[in-house]
Parts: sequence; C-alpha cells; structure tokens
Amino acid sequence: RKLRVGVIFGGKSGEHEVSILSAKSVIENLNPLLYEILPIGITKEGMWHTGIGAYTALGTEPPKQLLQQTNHSGSESMITFGPAPTLTSATAEAIDVVIPVLHGPYGEDGTVQGLFELLNIPYVGAGVLASAVGMDKAMMKAVFAQAGLPQCKYVTFLRSRFDKSPEILLDEIEETLGYPCFVKPANMGSSVGISKAKDRTSLKAAIQNAAKYDRKLIVEEAVDAREIEVAVLGNDEPRTSVPGEIISSSEFYDYNAKYNDGKSTLMIPADLTQEQTETVRHMAKIAFQAIDGSGLSRVDFFLERKSGKFLINEINTFPGFTIYSMYPKLWEATGIPYDKLLDELIRLALERHQEKN
Ligand code: ADP
Ligand code: MG
Ligand code: MG
Repeated sequence: RKLRVGVIFGGKSGEHEVSILSAKSVIENLNPLLYEILPIGITKEGMWHTGIGAYTALGTEPPKQLLQQTNHSGSESMITFGPAPTLTSATAEAIDVVIPVLHGPYGEDGTVQGLFELLNIPYVGAGVLASAVGMDKAMMKAVFAQAGLPQCKYVTFLRSRFDKSPEILLDEIEETLGYPCFVKPANMGSSVGISKAKDRTSLKAAIQNAAKYDRKLIVEEAVDAREIEVAVLGNDEPRTSVPGEIISSSEFYDYNAKYNDGKSTLMIPADLTQEQTETVRHMAKIAFQAIDGSGLSRVDFFLERKSGKFLINEINTFPGFTIYSMYPKLWEATGIPYDKLLDELIRLALERHQEKN
C-alpha cells in the first residue's frame, strides 16, 4: 500500500504564511503513486486540524491534488481538530511518516519533533537537539565556535538585562561591535524582528523591537559581504549542494526582500572559484554535523568583501521549501529534482527512525 504521509503546516510562529506556501509545493510534488497525503494544519492560535478541513481552518485554498486524492477508508474519522496531543493520539496509527513543513518557533525548534519522538512516528528533518540548537542563534554560535567555524563578532543577552540596565549594555555593545550592527531575536527566522542599527538611538529601538519576539537577543557587527548558501542532505554521511548566492533587493535580506517585492534573485550556482566552492561546501558539512543535523539543512554564509573569507551566518533546519526556494533549487542544480528530493527526505526519515530503535 501507499505510504501515508502527514504534511504539517501553518503554526504559531511569525513564519505561518511562509510555511503554508512551502507545504503547498510539497503536497503538489509528492508522487501520488507512492504516497497518500494527510494534511495537518496548525492555526496561529495553535489548534490542529486534519484533512481538507485544515485548509478552511487556516483560511486558505487546498491544493487541487488533495481534492482528487481518493482517500483510504476511515479517513473521514481522521478529520478532527483540537490541540496537538488529542489529534495526534487519534491519528498516530494512521501515519507512516510526518513532514513538519514548519518554520520558526514551535515547528523548527524541536518542540514538534519532541511530540513525534514521544509518539514514535518517523519525521523528516532534524531531531529535537539539532532543531533546538539551529533555532537559537546564541546556542548555534557557541556550537559553531566549538567546531572552529569562523563567524562575525557578536554579543548576546537576555531582554531582562536590557530592561534593568540599558545604558551599561549599550556601552558594552558600542565598545565591542560599534556601528552599524544587526539586532536579532535569538529564536526566529525569515528576518522577523531583525534590524540594522546605525547609532545609539536606532540601536535602542532595534533592541526594543527584537525583544517583542524573544527573551534572548543577539547583536552582531555588520559585515560587508556576499551571501552564499549551501544545501545539505543526508543523515550520518551528508551530501552538500552547489552553493547559491542571494542578490538582495534591499539594504539587507529582510522579510520584504525575501517574500514580497519579488526583486531579490538567486544565483545558482554562485559565481565562486573552485577553491571557494570546496571551502564553503566543506564548512556547510562541518556546521551540519556540529549541530548533529539529520535529513536537511540550509547553511548560510557571508563571503566578506574585504578579507575574502567565509563567515558562517546560520543554519536553518527546515529552510523555505517552495518550488522557488533556495534549498530545492540548489538540489535541482546539483541533480536532484524537487519530487525526488521529497522521496529522499522521506527515505532518510525512515532510515533515521530505524537506526534509533
Ligand atoms: P534569519 O534567521 O531571520 O534569516 P539572519 O541572521 O539570516 O536571520 O539575518 C537575516 C538577514 O539579515 C541576512 O540574510 C542578511 O541579509 C542580514 N544580516 C544578518 N546579520 C548580518 C550581519 N552580521 N552583517 C550583515 N548582514 C546581516
Ligand atoms: Mg534563519
Ligand atoms: Mg537567514
């Protein structure tokens, strides 16, 4: 019989909309001869809905593939909704593998992964630890430093410390990093909550803004650099893709430049020397293994203009996954088309599950 694949999308994070788009591409490209799809939508409030009803609950149209899918018997009873634990205990039996197409907190950070560990259901992508480390920029940087990966200068602190003694902290940031600098919530993605500060006034405002999204913050020196990204695929012996480059339409690659204005472009492969290509692919693999990654990750770098050196910026354990997104496009350019990429990710999820048990 066909493999029953739960595709989870939406979610409580600031990347809810992006996740819906990623999941749409996933559902449209899962081979209908191999898989039966169970959509699982999570509203912004955190309610879980399954079946076609998931789409109405999230206020969006279901992909036509789903309407055509002839469901196996008993599917009607799976169209239930509720908070995660209720839903999953009722449907766990009916799912062979889950694809958590979720970006950001409560999806890409190990929380959902923990739920599937408890339910003993195989799932695509990073496990609990790798997801959590990859989501938290402060923890991620500590792990990268330990692995000997070069990165830009940064300062990390809790929101409560800023609230208590802002002036001391601002002095410290100015002394260590200077301007311009980037202020970020530690746990977020899609550039949500990130701003570039040019002076003390804008730094203060940037911290206050980032503090809306997380209790932990990070400030980094701004580097003048090209942005190069590498896709990683695999479990214990990960493969790396050709590198790609982001040509951002604005001053930095913010939410608008990523999703809205349609003017940012992806250069695949990036125009790099063979030596640069080998270096950055190697660094991507080190980063993936440093966080104990599995399945997939996109590792993002700065190629600093003045030094010509690569600095690691971040790892994303569930990167954007629409047909236009960097991760699948990098694999396409490396020889794995989108539908085959999904087959491989599902195979890796099952392999990892077996190895654990
Ligand atoms: P996210 O996880 O939200 O994608 P990033 O750390 O990748 O957060 O930051 C988003 C974007 O902001 C980057 O793609 C880059 O354009 C810009 N940026 C972030 N940090 C720096 C930095 N230290 N120097 C220069 N640009 C930066
Ligand atoms: Mg990110
Ligand atoms: Mg990024």
